[in-house]
Amino acid sequence: MPRPKSQAAFERAQKVIPGGVNSPARAFGGVGGTPLFIARAEGPYLYDLDGHRYLDYIGSWGPMILGHCHPKVVAAVLEAVHNGSSYGAPCEKESELAELICSLMPSMEMVRMVSSGTEAAMSAVRLARGYTGRNLIVKFAGCYHGHVDALLVSAGSSALTLGVPSSPGVPAGCTQDTVVLRYNDCQALRDLFATRGNLIAGVMLEPFVGNMGLVSPSKEFLDELWKLTRRHGSLLIFDEVMTGFRLAPGGAQELLGIKPDVTVLGKIIGGGYPVGAYGGRAEVMKKIMPAGPVFQAGTLSGNPVAMAAGLATLKELRDNPPYAQLDQLSKRLCDGLTQFATARNIPHQINRIGSMWTLFFTGTPVVDLDTAKTSNTEKFSRFFWSMMDRGVYLPCSQFEAAFTSAAHTPEMIDTTLQAAREALNKL
Ligand code: PMP
Repeated sequence: MPRPKSQAAFERAQKVIPGGVNSPARAFGGVGGTPLFIARAEGPYLYDLDGHRYLDYIGSWGPMILGHCHPKVVAAVLEAVHNGSSYGAPCEKESELAELICSLMPSMEMVRMVSSGTEAAMSAVRLARGYTGRNLIVKFAGCYHGHVDALLVSAGSSALTLGVPSSPGVPAGCTQDTVVLRYNDCQALRDLFATRGNLIAGVMLEPFVGNMGLVSPSKEFLDELWKLTRRHGSLLIFDEVMTGFRLAPGGAQELLGIKPDVTVLGKIIGGGYPVGAYGGRAEVMKKIMPAGPVFQAGTLSGNPVAMAAGLATLKELRDNPPYAQLDQLSKRLCDGLTQFATARNIPHQINRIGSMWTLFFTGTPVVDLDTAKTSNTEKFSRFFWSMMDRGVYLPCSQFEAAFTSAAHTPEMIDTTLQAAREALNKL
């Protein structure tokens, strides 16, 4: 399908913005071709510059759980804008949002607002180190925690070697205290804690991973994480930037029945505006300046307009929880995808939790980055573009989760399935 206006906009952007985009995933590197330039969004739909309409299964990579331009969020933002856009001084909306977050996620007794998930994850790492007086941070291959130097790390050659930088510009010194393990690998975790448990400040993970495509944790893995961090005095840090307020009012931690020491948030808590946050037990959070010695600050942190958008979003989620509906819609969609792919003998896996899901083009069950990488990305690309041409906007990489929103209806799911049936038939 020709999209000349998006094409022209992309060429223009490439002259003044590296790669034409302000965040790499938007450039469609995983699927090739020209990214769509968006003119506007409403409810479950995105509209591109060329006037095409798409059912949106990205939702800005997670925040738009209520759909675009939810009337209550729009009203709250408009009201806030008229009271000034930034004060450089505290306002009550910050406490109101903090109270709401802490009431919905009881592991958090205190929370500090920042402006992105990256900032929240970076600050959580500093807090874990400052609180424990230790340096080592453990993360898992395939989990993304933003572009924090210490977390832009590839696994070393064996599970127990220290991480190596995965981007030019990250000095080895920044990653020498980060250990990368395989997700769901209990033995590697046990081995690491057995040899270096007393050096580990914190273990950070996505409790359900969205960033290698959707991957769920095994019960044994979670049990081991809990047990080992308790035994060795390391902080368990859940990065719920994607899962927070998406999988349940209390996030993945509510579903899993685990109270992490520190939680990293973003996306939904800003209702589509730039917000991140990190929080946990008061005793830990009181280490943050000015309550304690661990420095962290931000000119636009707790921005009143962003706070208003986040508050309106979380209140709507609390008062009219869409979670059962989201689960049903997503199940209907994923069941249909499985049925069509099976009928066509296409090797595939559907991983899903609530409204987060991924169709992997592989016959191998996907439980970590290595198994995710067995996917046929060429097949995924053809499926992606075929869906796009049928008005369905899916994540532009095999290694990203799709998101269903509360603005989707059963009829829209059926429209999507019809498109998927045609797209899979063409593969
Ligand atoms: N953590 C997770 C789990 C994420 O998915 C992301 C972004 N996709 C981040 C952190 C970084 O958030 P941001 O892009 O707001 O910096």
